[in-house]
Amino acid sequence: MAYSKEGFFDNFGGKYVAEVLRRPLDELEAAFSEAMKDPEFLKELEIIQRDYIGRETPLLYAETASKILGGAQIYIKLEGLANTGAHKINNAIGQCLLAKRMGKKRIIAETGAGQHGVATAAACAKLGLDCTVYMGEVDVRRQQPNVAAMEMYGAKVHAVTSGSRTLKDAVNEAMRDWAANPDTTHYVLGSALGPAPFPDMVREFQSVIGKEVKKQSAERKLDVAAMIACCGGGSNSIGFFAPFVDEKEPRLIAVEAGGIGPGVGENASRMTGNASRDGIMQGYKSRFLLDDDGQALPTRSISAGLDYCGIGPQLAALGRAGRIEFTSALDSEALDAVKFFAKNEGVLFAMESAHAGAEAIKLAPTLPKDKAIIVNMSGRGDKDIFITCPVFRPEEWKQFLISELERLNESKDIHDANSMVK
Ligand SMILES: *Cc1c(COP(=O)(O)O)cnc(C)c1O
Repeated sequence: MAYSKEGFFDNFGGKYVAEVLRRPLDELEAAFSEAMKDPEFLKELEIIQRDYIGRETPLLYAETASKILGGAQIYIKLEGLANTGAHKINNAIGQCLLAKRMGKKRIIAETGAGQHGVATAAACAKLGLDCTVYMGEVDVRRQQPNVAAMEMYGAKVHAVTSGSRTLKDAVNEAMRDWAANPDTTHYVLGSALGPAPFPDMVREFQSVIGKEVKKQSAERKLDVAAMIACCGGGSNSIGFFAPFVDEKEPRLIAVEAGGIGPGVGENASRMTGNASRDGIMQGYKSRFLLDDDGQALPTRSISAGLDYCGIGPQLAALGRAGRIEFTSALDSEALDAVKFFAKNEGVLFAMESAHAGAEAIKLAPTLPKDKAIIVNMSGRGDKDIFITCPVFRPEEWKQFLISELERLNESKDIHDANSMVK
């Protein structure tokens, strides 16, 4: 794939930013490309990936699931076993290490559902950096468990009150902060999108997933027919696919959020959806879900991490070129996949990752038994109990929440414990 100096992947990408952000982006680009050629930096990254993140993550043979489906053999890359529970830490640690090398002591990040905020807060705690996370006020209220986790890691969570008070506004606020404090601060963007060099850099830090898969599948002499990943902004998928995109095989399949159906506002299918268009937003050119006036449309998905109106520019380019195939899974199919792999493999997929699992369930029976399919389980599903439990066991969950609230209101112990920790 042609990657130009201005940060374009074919027609997509670029650096559509205000003048004040040019210099920090150019400095970051120079520092990144220099660091990636420095054996000392790469060694430091490798050690922290091993000891802190817990790499390499296993490639699990899903033996029972494969037998039941009766076609290709399914393998699951257990990225959910990475420290903090998902792939996002790969990027957060990489960027924080780079920021430290650049002499920056302050980190800012945007977060929607909170997963990227948690990963960045944890990386900052590990590396001794000051951390501020911008999060829409609406999301702060909806995602209290992640807000609590970020604060536990020592980060400050800044509730954004402008616009729709969600992810888009948090990105704008983070950009504003960075433009005002470029010398002290690095902005850790959370997916393979935004202005160059972020799409390139995030892919490089996430490509550790694909490199391990390449080695693991060669060791086991797998005949890999397809690799499947879920696709929000695109960081886990592009990192998983990266070492394979310049080869003809295997098939690379990215699964978007199909939500509750094909209607506008019912999904987050930027490549396969009805309202999918070329556009420029938040510093980059790509495929977006936009209305006739070029405004971002509302999106919907049961998985917070896939619920975004834009997609990384390299994915958009590889999709248009036909190297990456795009498809989608409905909320209901993702929920079924969570149950299927939990019951048959003892592995709990995150709701996002379950979109990839759902595609594997559809694809495996259509392929011969001597072929392999590799699914990226980008995260584990412990974080999703507030979504899955109300669906799987609605009445019991309601009773549980009521009793928790009563316990909280009545318990003298909690108040006593609280006054002790302060
Ligand atoms: C955030 C998230 C995603 C989606 O983000 P990408 O950048 O598309 O990878 C997928 N899976 C999990 C577990 C996530 O937390």
